[in-house]
Amino acid sequence: MASDVTVIGAGAIGIVSALMLRREGHRVTVIDRQAPGEGASFGNAGSLAPSSIVPIALPGTIRQVPKWLRDPLGPLTLSWQQLPKMLPWFLHFNRACGEDRARRAATLLRAMNTPSIEGYAELLAEAGASDLLRRQGMLHVYRREASFNGSAFGRELRRDNGCEFEIVDADRIHALAPGLSKEYRYGFFLPDNAHLAGPGNVVKALAAHLQRIGGVIEQAEVTAIRGAGQGVTLEVGGRTRQADIVVLAAGHASGRFAAQVGTHVPLAPERGYHIQIPGAEPGLHCPVTDGEGRFVATPMAGGLRFAGTSEFQAAGAPPNWDRAEILAKQAKSMFPGLEVKNYSRWMGVRPSTPDSAPVIGRSPRHPGVLFAFGHGHWGLMAAPATGRIVSDLVAGRTPKIDPAPFSADRFGWF
Ligand SMILES: Cc1cc2nc3c(=O)[nH]c(=O)nc-3n(C[C@H](O)[C@H](O)[C@H](O)COP(=O)(O)OP(=O)(O)OC[C@H]3O[C@@H](n4cnc5c(N)ncnc54)[C@H](O)[C@@H]3O)c2cc1C
Repeated sequence: MASDVTVIGAGAIGIVSALMLRREGHRVTVIDRQAPGEGASFGNAGSLAPSSIVPIALPGTIRQVPKWLRDPLGPLTLSWQQLPKMLPWFLHFNRACGEDRARRAATLLRAMNTPSIEGYAELLAEAGASDLLRRQGMLHVYRREASFNGSAFGRELRRDNGCEFEIVDADRIHALAPGLSKEYRYGFFLPDNAHLAGPGNVVKALAAHLQRIGGVIEQAEVTAIRGAGQGVTLEVGGRTRQADIVVLAAGHASGRFAAQVGTHVPLAPERGYHIQIPGAEPGLHCPVTDGEGRFVATPMAGGLRFAGTSEFQAAGAPPNWDRAEILAKQAKSMFPGLEVKNYSRWMGVRPSTPDSAPVIGRSPRHPGVLFAFGHGHWGLMAAPATGRIVSDLVAGRTPKIDPAPFSADRFGWF
């Protein structure tokens, strides 16, 4: 039976979910205060990595935090003013750093990320934008042997979950990434990974396709959401409207709306940055991750993008462009021959849970509200799996990927 479904959020999660629902005949309206693909989904590193299954919370992560915070070029910063507000999140994060929990998170990420490449291949073919999908693998590199050895647990998680990878020596690294600094001598290559050469444009192309097949996209701000009997009431742009089902895919803003329907979820605004150098072509075919600096260089259709860093700061605080300038310094150090100039800068907000797993499924207190948020570092790649779970739940089918581990109630005392 066709339902009236309203999706809040036109990022990768909202648009892919909306497309999958519309293909099944539902009447779908997506509401976003911005144009599609302008949130976190715009400026990310573009990786679609079935092997990207290593959670952020790992045994030993907490020990590294003071070192990262002291390093001005380090991958992590924290607004001390925000600390009291984020303390419960960090307590959950600390709990997630146990080995068993990390293994469990890796298995969940494997389930969510495995359908990413074929999922996008199918949707992009329908949307006439297949050229944005590049199946060229992904390289992880390190300068120091100790750092490479320090990432052994991540490779163990990959091996245990059936991810293919090849340990590469210095010659192979520089054959795969010719302009790379010769200081990088250790690494591994993930052949079954791919990337989107313009994630924002991918979301926009899919949004245009959604409209062609009868979906509606409205630009308006949602201010409140309330469960109303079997249906849902929304306040949108000063007006009240009803829907049979609402899919909450508002990225980092989703926590506020989940609370309005009675569920409190630890969701941190984990801000990241990119710089993109137009026309830069250091001979790179696949994305390259610097495992020590924790950033990714991705060849995009519009230039070479360097993306990364974690900044725990209020989502609405002004960007700290020094974080982007750090990426510019790292770009030069990674590719010494590269002219790092005329680059654009971007800041986006990851919707991050402490255990690296998203929140997907029916709201525990209002069955008309479906949660689809909290994808942290993996939201672009996890969108096809999320869309499938959402469309299965709307249709009343048992989802192929069990959503139980993604329940909003798993955080217990939060
Ligand atoms: C630097 C960086 C690199 C990354 N690299 C990767 C990567 O390589 N691969 C990967 O898979 N992931 C990556 N990510 C993570 C990924 O970008 C996110 O997980 C993903 O974009 C989240 O998608 P989303 O649709 O949930 O959120 P968003 O794209 O942020 O979309 C949410 C939408 O909700 C709208 N919204 C919010 N509140 C309201 C409201 N009140 N009314 C109306 N609309 C509202 C917003 O305007 C926005 O458009 C990266 C993130 C960063 C920051």
